[in-house]
Amino acid sequence: MHGETHGEAPDHAHSHDGAHGASLESALAMAEAYCRERGEKLTPIRRKVLELLLASGRATKAYSLLDEMRQIHPGSAPPTVYRALDFLLSAGLIHRIESINAFAVCHDLTQCQHGILVVCQQCGNVTELNEPKLRQALVAQIEAAGYRLAGDGIELKGLCAQCQAGQASQSAPPGAAATPATAAQS
Ligand SMILES: [Zn+2]
Ligand SMILES: [Zn+2]
Repeated sequence: MHGETHGEAPDHAHSHDGAHGASLESALAMAEAYCRERGEKLTPIRRKVLELLLASGRATKAYSLLDEMRQIHPGSAPPTVYRALDFLLSAGLIHRIESINAFAVCHDLTQCQHGILVVCQQCGNVTELNEPKLRQALVAQIEAAGYRLAGDGIELKGLCAQCQAGQASQSAPPGAAATPATAAQS
């Protein structure tokens, strides 16, 4: 039996919109409760950085976060934002996306075992495949080869459906009539 990765399609595959309104608030409330349980505090600045990442719905670079913070709190200094990111990382609420040097919210804010991240190298869209068996099989192979993962992140480089559609519309190779990606863009 070899690893075929079908099964339940990740329902969070369309994360372009980010979280808004009620879902944003409930995610923040969940994160707050989670920190409290751990005896830590989601301070206003940590909360704001998390909120910006939740609202963006994709991987965001630290300097963009800083820019956004400065629109709200003009005096925000880089260390403040970096410290908030460090806290969110250590709490497991966000991921550092190394391939594009950015940060993204974890698919499940209170999940301690992270899944496998697929990262669009073009737009920063991140999908977290939460299939523990797939992850375990991969880790077992890695360990059998004598390695140990450097962190708990497993990151795959990809190109998301929207970006593929964008490329296809620019140069459609003949005969490549793939299923038309219905990118609902304005
Ligand atoms: Zn995660
Ligand atoms: Zn993309």
